[in-house]
Amino acid sequence: MKEKAKQLLKQIGWYHPLQSLYRNTRLQLTNLRYRILYRKYSGSGFTCNFCGASYSQFVPEYPSNDIAPVIYGQKVIAGFGEHVYCPRCLSKNRDRLVKVVLDHYLDSNHKRVLHFSPEKQLFANLSRRSMVTTVDIEPGFYKSIDKSITFADATQLQFADNSFDIIIANHILEHIPDDRKAMREIYRVLQQQGVAILQAPWSQSLPATIEEPTIADPIQQARLFGQRDHVRIYTLDDYVERLTAAGFAVRVISAVELTTYSHHAIQAGEPVVLGYKI
Ligand SMILES: [Zn+2]
Repeated sequence: MKEKAKQLLKQIGWYHPLQSLYRNTRLQLTNLRYRILYRKYSGSGFTCNFCGASYSQFVPEYPSNDIAPVIYGQKVIAGFGEHVYCPRCLSKNRDRLVKVVLDHYLDSNHKRVLHFSPEKQLFANLSRRSMVTTVDIEPGFYKSIDKSITFADATQLQFADNSFDIIIANHILEHIPDDRKAMREIYRVLQQQGVAILQAPWSQSLPATIEEPTIADPIQQARLFGQRDHVRIYTLDDYVERLTAAGFAVRVISAVELTTYSHHAIQAGEPVVLGYKI
């Protein structure tokens, strides 16, 4: 019944706008609640590199019961922890990590940027200084962030070769069954000398990547891969190897080096993976 209603809403074009409205309203209420609740922590400690607010604690997020065994069991760096959301603007630790890269490792002014599944704060910040094109496989979910967002299948991008100076795919590739094809496409549309920020969750304990590209069972996917729409868990070595095979010159900025920026409450233990087209 629920599925039928969803299909009907999709047919008449109401599904994504309604979902978007619901998600936005929920987000605004959540934000208001955190602003009030976290007032007592305000003033010092961590500083959000989007909104500039400082708090001694950010909002934590822990894995739910269905995914906790795999997240903890396989030591997956997946964005959970004590200081995840900024109480003021709701930026996430993984978004603040990308902002660190944009601020300290790249020149992101006046660039042509391709931004997959755009995060609200990142998009707002980048679009003030660069030309940002946003895409997603379900663009309707992101209309409230960028009304110009268009559909794109990462394995078959509609853009010409060498179209972008910077590409941001922040926790995207673990969703895509044919990730190697998507990597080759990202490489193709990246400009010579361009760079892609290619974050993905990875396991610190698995000996090799685990994956089932054809799986279409959200309950099993959550149990096996830690999220209802993931199709694998990478190891860092294999992830880098796949990107290298797609053509990228890969640079990994170690989590140790990134501790310089831990005052921005970035994800502890998460390295940054940059793919260059040289
Ligand atoms: Zn903030």
